[in-house]
Amino acid sequence: MSDGGDGKGIVAPGVFAPFSRRRLVGAGVAGIGIASLIAGTAQAQSLSATKAGEGDGSAGDPGPDNHALSALNPDSVTPPATDHGSVPQFWNSFSLSHRRIQEGGWARQVNVVDFPISTEIASVNMKLNAGGIRELHWHEANEWALMLTGAARLTAIDYEGRPYVKDVKAGDLWYFPEGLPHSIQGLGPDGCEFLLVFDEGKFSEEDTTLLTDWLAHTPREVLAKNFGVDRGRLAPLDKLPPEGRYIFPAPVPPPLRQDASAMTKDVSASSIAFDFAMSEMPPTKQDASGEVRIVDSAKFKVSKTMAMAHVRVKPGAMRELHWHTNAAEWQYYIAGQGRMTVFANKGDARTMDFRAGDVGYIPVTLPHYIENTGDEDLVFLEMFKSPTYSDVSLNEWLAVLPPELVRQHLGLEETVTASFPKKDYAVVPAKA
Ligand code: MN
Ligand code: MN
Repeated sequence: MSDGGDGKGIVAPGVFAPFSRRRLVGAGVAGIGIASLIAGTAQAQSLSATKAGEGDGSAGDPGPDNHALSALNPDSVTPPATDHGSVPQFWNSFSLSHRRIQEGGWARQVNVVDFPISTEIASVNMKLNAGGIRELHWHEANEWALMLTGAARLTAIDYEGRPYVKDVKAGDLWYFPEGLPHSIQGLGPDGCEFLLVFDEGKFSEEDTTLLTDWLAHTPREVLAKNFGVDRGRLAPLDKLPPEGRYIFPAPVPPPLRQDASAMTKDVSASSIAFDFAMSEMPPTKQDASGEVRIVDSAKFKVSKTMAMAHVRVKPGAMRELHWHTNAAEWQYYIAGQGRMTVFANKGDARTMDFRAGDVGYIPVTLPHYIENTGDEDLVFLEMFKSPTYSDVSLNEWLAVLPPELVRQHLGLEETVTASFPKKDYAVVPAKA
């Protein structure tokens, strides 16, 4: 790529400023410039035609428009000329989700109901105050998580009934298998915010099994018999809210060792590591253009159904053209801004823009790239419902093919293809 400063012009730094038609037109032209570098001469002709069309007002929009929303997706409003057809929407955002705010914190979700393309994965974004508890619960679907800010205390038990307790901080992961009960409690000083990713598109945070919800709907005499205590001593259960507590405030818990020793008084601790310190691992790949951390079941043993790539792309650089062999890709944008084109066969392609808090989705095997369009690092998660991470790099593939075979397809001379990057960089520089 040699887009130089043009890349930054795709979305002007002041994109949150009031709408400017001038800026959107400019954005389209900048995007087209990049596409032509990739697509070659024939493409360049249609690109100049598009530019002329914009010049004569064809791309104008004199009627009603949600200008604020349009300004957030300039590559959708004025697509690159290479885009075509009706690729299903692969952009969504937690910023559009209902926030269930309770005393102690809040939660919001994006699942297949609001994001129909995301059939394999659903996600929840949650914040807990210091001391705030996401109550003891379990659910269908496996839960993979990334701590975004702050710290929390986790509890769980494993399949043998052995207890687990751990404090996790920003950059740490956890994974709770389907059906195993667990809790999350915000720690001081500021509680925490985290992302939960479930390997089932239909998963809903509104449909988990809550300890208090269940016990509130179990006959008191049955509970007395089950616990072996007098029914009168269970009177506090009558104060449980009819639909359970879900999230509620509480004091910050005691030091970890105190909870750990209380939990292992009569049984030994679980040998399963339900958490993984992703922030402390060195990058799997790193160069001046960015870095990638890959965590799947090879490293994080308990995460048998989920694989992750945590990607950082420097300004002007790009997560290279590639695809994945074994699962759809669900994305969560953590920082910065970028754009992605998904190619969906039979001439169809669509480009959309992403920012922190947004969600993306790419059906299995469809090729794509993610380009940093801002002035700061673009950081995002790639999640896969798969025990292993797997991708194919276009550069890496073309580099190992017989040069004549490539020339017969693309018309590119061997001297050109010989200059393509020879290894899977994951992130390619602004100027290759
Ligand atoms: Mn859970
Ligand atoms: Mn990908």
